[in-house]
Amino acid sequence: MAKQSSHPKGLYLLFATEMWERFSYYGNRALLALFMISALSFDKQFTSALYGQYTGLVYLAPLVGGYVADRFWGNRRSIVVGGVLMALGQFLLFFAGTWFQDASIAIPLFYSGLGFIIAGNGFFKPNISTMVGQLYEPNDSRKDTAYTIFYMGINLGSFMAPLICGTLGDTGNPADFRWGFLTAGLGMLISLAIFVSFRDKYLLDPAGKLIGLAPGKISAEERAKRDAPLTQVDIERIIVIGVLSFFVIFFWSAFEQAGVSLTFFAAESLDREVLGFTVPTSWFQSLNPVFVLIFAPVLASLWTFLSKKGAEPSSPTKMAWGLLFLGFGYIVIAMAVKHIEPGIKVSIMWLVTMYWLHTMGELCLSPIGLSLVNKLAPARFASLLMAVWFMASAAANWFAGVLAGFYPEAGQAVPSFMGYQINGIYEFFMLFVGMAMATAALLLLSTKKLQK
Ligand code: GLN
Repeated sequence: MAKQSSHPKGLYLLFATEMWERFSYYGNRALLALFMISALSFDKQFTSALYGQYTGLVYLAPLVGGYVADRFWGNRRSIVVGGVLMALGQFLLFFAGTWFQDASIAIPLFYSGLGFIIAGNGFFKPNISTMVGQLYEPNDSRKDTAYTIFYMGINLGSFMAPLICGTLGDTGNPADFRWGFLTAGLGMLISLAIFVSFRDKYLLDPAGKLIGLAPGKISAEERAKRDAPLTQVDIERIIVIGVLSFFVIFFWSAFEQAGVSLTFFAAESLDREVLGFTVPTSWFQSLNPVFVLIFAPVLASLWTFLSKKGAEPSSPTKMAWGLLFLGFGYIVIAMAVKHIEPGIKVSIMWLVTMYWLHTMGELCLSPIGLSLVNKLAPARFASLLMAVWFMASAAANWFAGVLAGFYPEAGQAVPSFMGYQINGIYEFFMLFVGMAMATAALLLLSTKKLQK
């Protein structure tokens, strides 16, 4: 038996597997919008919409992957299938990048590559996330820290990805994007190799039994437990997962501007010269993960400290804080552009500060959400309900793409969103301030009910 303070080795296996998978996903993502614009010559509007649909489907596919795992395949097999599909997808994008000048070849390759990544993520993401919690007894108090550690694995991968894949792919020469995609594919293969080599040794429950097997392979006794009818409490808990997932849609749709409108902003309106060196646009995607790595332990200790004092905020309250931080981040970036003349570029410190605030928000909301879903979900729907949590990201990413379509462009008609005129980048960013603050207020008003 592991000591209460230390964590099972399986956690570090899942950490490494997910780290390389996220390296692959975010390495690709750092290049995607830039690739569509500079290599495939799509315009910003189309790029935003496609980006939103793609990332939306990436997070919707877990619904299928979670269901298939809970019913038929188990988590282990689903993760391997997902990993293989994702690697294939990245390699298809490598070929799309190789023949980018011939649209009749590049475009079909590009779309099928995205399709493979979507399907692969569907099998991979909910299942790896569920397995983290299965390493522990249901009420083990180490689960929250386990998810925080796992979240750091996610972000270690996400941090390296733009620096490595971005540097290889985002060089100014559109023929180089493919090297970034190739590297992303190799990252996925590393993830798979690690998982397959060590899964049987380390993916065990506290009693030493293998976890993540297909339902047909688990003992009759275990199955009877899983198949017991849902109780009233189970149903209420499922509803809470649903309601919280709804609120986080608004969080992620503003947060996920990172890959689209905030990337356009970084490319066009930011003074990226630092000490004679031009910071590549894709590198800004590393700020959020690096802040996660630094501040995840800080917030985790803060929660522990507060809980010792008996003053730990409830999960819904933390999530409302997450939305407030997000809103503050957009206030900062809106202030940066409020009085500038067209064509003048602003200091990167504004964007850095914004990403820091967004990250503080994410840390109040995302690892807590994963852990909460694991604790509230009945065992037989564990992966499926994890997928419901990711469905919020799906809706949000799609919506993020729609909203990014309102990013104002010089010389084009002034867009308006539900009657709100977006005359410039200032108004565009203020849209997210309004959205974040309004949702935070609503969530704060409903915390009592949800907690019960
Ligand atoms: N950045 C985190 C990850 O990739 C969270 C993503 C999400 O839930 N939308 O896992």
